[in-house]
Amino acid sequence: MKKYFALIICFAMFLPVCFAETVVYNTKTHKYHKPGCTWAVKCTSNCIKIDKKDAKNKGGVPCKVCGG
Ligand SMILES: [Zn+2]
Repeated sequence: MKKYFALIICFAMFLPVCFAETVVYNTKTHKYHKPGCTWAVKCTSNCIKIDKKDAKNKGGVPCKVCGG
C-alpha cells in the first residue's frame, strides 16, 4: 500500500513539471502555447513541441489566451 502511495506522489510531483516545461511553439508567428490551448490544438503545420526555455530563446512570445 505504501508503495502505491509513493507512486501517486511521484506522479503528482512530476506531471505539472512536464506540462509547465513543454510548450507548443508556432514557428511562423513565434508564439508559444500550453499543450492544452485551443490554438495549440488547431496549429498543426507550423507548430513544434519544444521546451519553454527554447521557445523563449528563439524569441517566442507567450500566447495571450493561455499565457504560454
Ligand atoms: Zn495559447
